[in-house]
Amino acid sequence: MGSPHFSRRSIFTLLTGGVAAAAVGEARAGEIGTLPRAWPDGAKAAVSLTYDDGLNSQLDNAVPELKRLGWKATFFLTETNAHWRLADWEGLAHDGNEVANHTMTHPCALAGYSAGRFQSTEIDRMEGYLDQNFGPDRARTFAYPCGYLGLGRGGRHERYARYRRVLERDGVVAARTTAGGPNRPEVAAADPLHLHAFEPTYEADGVAPAIRYLNETVAQGGWAILVFHDVLPAWRTDGDTSVATHNKILAHIAGLDVWCAPMGQVFDYVETRWGRPA
Ligand SMILES: [Zn+2]
Repeated sequence: MGSPHFSRRSIFTLLTGGVAAAAVGEARAGEIGTLPRAWPDGAKAAVSLTYDDGLNSQLDNAVPELKRLGWKATFFLTETNAHWRLADWEGLAHDGNEVANHTMTHPCALAGYSAGRFQSTEIDRMEGYLDQNFGPDRARTFAYPCGYLGLGRGGRHERYARYRRVLERDGVVAARTTAGGPNRPEVAAADPLHLHAFEPTYEADGVAPAIRYLNETVAQGGWAILVFHDVLPAWRTDGDTSVATHNKILAHIAGLDVWCAPMGQVFDYVETRWGRPA
């Protein structure tokens, strides 16, 4: 800790036509709090589909259905997995999907890390990998590996505060956990590094939990973030989703009056509409 750190976004702004970029930022900042607090086009709620770990099965078994529906999603990559099919992930990003940071190697036991070592080996390096392969102009979002929110040693609040500082230093604007009810937009705008999400098939390959969660989200006018891992012809173990169940969940979403968009895009909208004026 301690060394001065500029977010990649601010460095990018400085390097590439900073005047125009700054003007856009100012206009946007001026809009905060003045626009109607409603989802686009009268939608009743928002849904973001997120796919973790950079798994080949997502490219092979989930992306075709997303393409068929014309939807974009968020893919939280680790370098460890993504490098196997980098060209496919690049194609996905080129098509308008979000690729974002899920660390280099997906460590889940974080007690032994100092903030500095975790930042340099897992967060900073992954941001660099994503910048190098996908360009610097992308959503700065993050998904906590294993949904663990504590970094290093100490009490729960201390470990979480340490983790957040690491993310903030790298310019991460929104981070997703793997628990909690549908996001209320005003809460998401106020606490963006603690976005709730739901793993609909984590314990069993069924559609019912997803339907309950989505219907609850619509009833609240909230924002559902769904988490998927391997999408396979048949469910094998915790975390998997069968192709049939995955496609049924997406079909249910298609029948709802919701806005389905990547996490960073929805967050951007939420921040503009529900964020407090600076
Ligand atoms: Zn993961």
